[in-house]
Amino acid sequence: MPLAAGIDVGGTKFLGVVVDDDGSVVAETRRPTPQGGDAIVAQLADVVSELVAGTDDVATVGVGLPGLITRAGAIVASPNLPGVIDLDVASRVGALLGRAVSAGNDATCATLAEWRVGAGRGIDDLVMVTLGTGIGGGAVTGGRLLVGAHGFAGEFGHMVVDPDGPPCPCGRRGCWERYASGSGIAHLARIAAIGRRMEAVVERGGGDAHDVRGEHVHAAARDGDAGALAVVDEFARWVALGLTNLTNAFDPTVFVLGGGLASGADLYLEPITRWFGELLYAPDLRTPPTLTFAELGERAGAIGAALLGRDAGR
Ligand SMILES: [Zn+2]
Repeated sequence: MPLAAGIDVGGTKFLGVVVDDDGSVVAETRRPTPQGGDAIVAQLADVVSELVAGTDDVATVGVGLPGLITRAGAIVASPNLPGVIDLDVASRVGALLGRAVSAGNDATCATLAEWRVGAGRGIDDLVMVTLGTGIGGGAVTGGRLLVGAHGFAGEFGHMVVDPDGPPCPCGRRGCWERYASGSGIAHLARIAAIGRRMEAVVERGGGDAHDVRGEHVHAAARDGDAGALAVVDEFARWVALGLTNLTNAFDPTVFVLGGGLASGADLYLEPITRWFGELLYAPDLRTPPTLTFAELGERAGAIGAALLGRDAGR
């Protein structure tokens, strides 16, 4: 099978890869993300040209983009790319290159990659949740990647879990990602620190409760600090709450958990599993989904973009 190029457009960097038949990465390149839609389109064309020039036989091109992305590969809105709205990425990059280009949501691409060549290989019903600065996700149901009528399926981070909760960049309140993401654990940690329930963690963060971040909590929890372990437990409860809602919606066999918080897998797996067992509908009468961690790391979006282009044959 010919090689496939994929580029993941993030808020801070572009990550481009070329993958072979097995989805193994045979070439890779990175660039900082430029400002503005025109610059993003131009740099995408540049990165594809570089990837194509470096290897023979790249047959297809796919792009993963943050935000609401139409099935035709256009950005409708993208909070991580300031000022970029209504940008027809696939057709503009395709016109510059003189070849067809596919584009889709980055978390949907990551789900495709983990399903085909990562932690979800061979599983027909899975839900992926990426716990990073925000929460992204995607689902495979009955052996098909869920895209939605408009391309917008999988925005799990903006499921509202408390309508009176803290404001979210999406313009609403109490979204799941305000609690169960990297910024969510920092928020929970600051509340505990200000309430003087986490003195040792505050010291690690330099002495000011407002500077406490997720990594300070992780380090203190690994040392057995009771205040930090309580925050980990509270965080795990919020993660499990969202996974319970997703189980009710999708009935998956497996959850694949990815994003930056997967690096705290040793801390989170036990409390998330315990809370999940308590919150799940009819836990004693069903086989609960298995919780696994993603395998492809930060390359999942780019590999998935390449697979998206290959699936579309362009
Ligand atoms: Zn939101």
